[in-house]
Amino acid sequence: MDKNILGKVQISGKIKCLTGLHIGASKENMEIGAIDSPVVRDPITREPYIPGSSLKGKMRALLEKALAADLGIVGETNRRNIGTKNNQVWVHVCNDIAEASACSICRIFGSTGHNGKNFPSRLIVRDAYLTRESEKKLSDIDTGLQYTEWKFENAIDRVTSAANPRQLERVPRGAEFDFELIYNVEETENLETDLLNLDLAIELIKLDAIGGHGSRGYGKVEIAIDCIKGITVEALKTDAVSAVEIKSLKDANNLLTAFQAKTVGA
Ligand SMILES: [Zn+2]
Repeated sequence: MDKNILGKVQISGKIKCLTGLHIGASKENMEIGAIDSPVVRDPITREPYIPGSSLKGKMRALLEKALAADLGIVGETNRRNIGTKNNQVWVHVCNDIAEASACSICRIFGSTGHNGKNFPSRLIVRDAYLTRESEKKLSDIDTGLQYTEWKFENAIDRVTSAANPRQLERVPRGAEFDFELIYNVEETENLETDLLNLDLAIELIKLDAIGGHGSRGYGKVEIAIDCIKGITVEALKTDAVSAVEIKSLKDANNLLTAFQAKTVGA
């Protein structure tokens, strides 16, 4: 299926940890004697970061739950694990391109259909790295770990009453990350709906958690959007890139004219 690109909507801002954040790293990369449950880090700078895939998976899962009744995808309809074997994330996925382009979830987040009938995601969620300020602040703290803290947790087996003490590494409360989402504008008919749904997904994350152990207080975040720009392909072709800016995703209809003009004029 050929896909047009009319332009991009660039959404950028900051994610601030209101409680300690734990996004687990793969155990295979652990050193002997290391903390039981380390956080994911950039292999070069060693800074903890929020993988775009974690953020995107969470947005998808929450939006799906919020829209399930409207979309008629309650229960077990076409569910698939988009996570890993150890960290399963079961979500709804449409089976073909026609279904996916009419589905509010798959249209934004993509679907992996059978026999190469994939519907590519319209949304790119970048990895979120520490802001310069947070990087500096965290490099000054003295916890014995680089940029992070560790928390001792004692899980009690409810059947045997055996204690299972372990240490969890987490990014301290107050840390801030720069985040960026790119939404590909392929048509204008669903542009407003998609952006309003993205807004809903972001609002839902604020009332949920990212990373692990959310039910025990980890991963509460504030997401502040600083800038939303609609950039048409035409604008990119000229030297002076002119973008239409909106203050809130709730004003998504104000981007329509810019992208519609290009469709009509083409
Ligand atoms: Zn779908």
